[in-house]
Amino acid sequence: MDMTISRQKASGGASGYLTIDLGALRDNYLKLRAMAPNAVTGAVVKANAYGLGAEVVAPVLYDAGCRHFFVAHIDEGIALRHRIRGDADIFVLNGLQPGNEASCAAMSLTPVINSLEQLAQWSAYAKTLGKTLRAALQIDTGMSRLGMAPSEIEALQTSPELLDGIRIVFVMSHLACADEPDHAANGSQLMVMREASLLFPDAPVCFANSGGIFLGADYHNAVMRPGIALYGGAPSSARPNPMKPVVRLDVAVVQTRTVPADTLVGYGGTLRTSTETRLATIAAGYADGLPRALSNRGAAYFNGVRLPIAGRVSMDSISIDISALPEGTLTHGSLVQIIGPDQSLEEIARDADTIAYEILTGLGQRYSRTYIQPEQAGATDRGE
Ligand SMILES: *Cc1c(COP(=O)(O)O)cnc(C)c1O
Repeated sequence: MDMTISRQKASGGASGYLTIDLGALRDNYLKLRAMAPNAVTGAVVKANAYGLGAEVVAPVLYDAGCRHFFVAHIDEGIALRHRIRGDADIFVLNGLQPGNEASCAAMSLTPVINSLEQLAQWSAYAKTLGKTLRAALQIDTGMSRLGMAPSEIEALQTSPELLDGIRIVFVMSHLACADEPDHAANGSQLMVMREASLLFPDAPVCFANSGGIFLGADYHNAVMRPGIALYGGAPSSARPNPMKPVVRLDVAVVQTRTVPADTLVGYGGTLRTSTETRLATIAAGYADGLPRALSNRGAAYFNGVRLPIAGRVSMDSISIDISALPEGTLTHGSLVQIIGPDQSLEEIARDADTIAYEILTGLGQRYSRTYIQPEQAGATDRGE
């Protein structure tokens, strides 16, 4: 782990400290790009760059050479446009909503056109402007979420006027099971994509998300769109995570106590102690993105020692069993690790019955956030 920050004590008075290693982010981007030297590597920065702060993350990726940014909503694209140089392309994955053609065009955002309806909307707007507008065209190759059905794509062949005023910058599709390398859907989606893209011989293909990049060269195509792997999440559920961790989360102890056997802990009294137990209450809960599903299942860590969550996760706090530590180790203001070298994003996601994506995007706004700049990465120690 490159992140050398070792926090032991909350010095700034915050309840929790979220540390985001921008050097690791950049290294992850460069690693993905090196895997496909013939492709352009973009970056998905939707949902505020998976919760990490798009206004900070996007410029770091830009400096690493990224010029293709993907957001989900127009508003995310507008916010990003104010933060990023004009030579970067911003693609809006959800495409157009009725009424936002003008802001999309004015902010030079490129919509991903997902339906004939969106296409008609964009084409009509191009006509009113008397201009050609850029668009990416999404094809549904088997996920049934966004994109045109292959039959609609054929309609474009018989009625090319549907594309009046529109320049297709690439055709794209999205893999439903890319994190499962052996899933049969990957190969069949690739076949559908190949066939459909033959209808647009001049348009580059954009296909691979993080998992797709790791499926091999067949999946790379012209433009890649990784998200989770940039942020340190595992691109594949079947293999060890090759990415550098980007996020570290430490939460402060508010109070410690020793309770006798037979004591109820937390809402609903779902835990009853079997022996004398030392407990610490830490200052984060489900409102801070630590899901209630971690109740009596997840853990925090201190110096490598696992400290199980005791009872239910509350909105603003969690009780943890600290009996495994020598008495007096944790006191008011001590920090325990929630995400870091002792507990990966994937591990906490698994304990919460969810995926790393949901943990990252759910991390609340109440943590004190520290960004380690790329040039400082590995050289900072803000412990104590
Ligand atoms: C979110 C998203 C991505 C990024 O996927 P990761 O699995 O995070 O790499 C790529 N493409 C589309 C269409 C998406 O919605």
